[in-house]
Amino acid sequence: MAVELWTDEDSPEPAVLGIQHRQITAEQLRRFEGYAAEIFTAFGMDLNTPGTANTPRRFIKGLFDVTNGYDGDPKLVRVFPTECRGGPDCRLSQVIEGPISFFAMCEHHVMPFYGQAYVGYIAHEHIVGISKLTRLVRLFARRFTLQERIGRQIAEALESMLEPHGVAVYLEAQHLCMQMRGVNEAASLTRTTHWRGNYDSNPSLRSEFFTACGLER
Ligand SMILES: [Zn+2]
Ligand SMILES: [Zn+2]
Repeated sequence: MAVELWTDEDSPEPAVLGIQHRQITAEQLRRFEGYAAEIFTAFGMDLNTPGTANTPRRFIKGLFDVTNGYDGDPKLVRVFPTECRGGPDCRLSQVIEGPISFFAMCEHHVMPFYGQAYVGYIAHEHIVGISKLTRLVRLFARRFTLQERIGRQIAEALESMLEPHGVAVYLEAQHLCMQMRGVNEAASLTRTTHWRGNYDSNPSLRSEFFTACGLER
C-alpha cells in the first residue's frame, strides 16, 4: 500500500520544499508592468509598436511563470514504503535518474541558467516514483536561486522524504549571466555535486554513480 506522506491541498507541505503559494493581485500586476515599461523605454525599447506594446505584460507574466517552483507541485509526492532487508542491496543498490533537464533564474543577475541534473539514492525506508525526481528537480530549479542551492535542496528533500541510506546529486549548467555579460565565457559548464549518507563515506559508490550516469570522462 502506498503511503502518502503528504498531499497537495489538505495537509501542509514539509518546510524542506520551501513552498510559498504566491498571491499577486491584479493591481500589483498593473504596477509591475508599469515598472517594466519604464525600464524598457529608458533602456531603448520602443513600446509604441504592435510587437512591443504588450511586452511589459509578457515580461512580468513570463518571470512569474518561470519561477513557479515557489508555488509547489500537486503531483510531486507519493512515497512508497519499501522493505529494508539489510545487507549489500540495501547499502549499495542505487536508483539513478538523469539527465533531467532544468531551467532556473540566477538570483544574482535574474538571468537564466540551465542544464542537466542527475539524482541517485540508495533506498531504505521508502522509494519514490521516478517521475517525482524530475518534478522535485524542477520544483527547486524554477525559482530565483543558485545552482549550488538547487543541488542541496534536492538532497535535503530526498533525505527527509525517503530516509534513504544515501543521496547523490550532480548538476551541470550553463549560466547566461556569465555567457552574455561578465566574463563572456560561452563554453563554460558549472558542475556541482552533493553527497549524503553512504555516498559521502564510500568513494566507489560515487564513481559507480558517475559511471551509471554516463558521466565518466
Ligand atoms: Zn548570475
Ligand atoms: Zn536499509
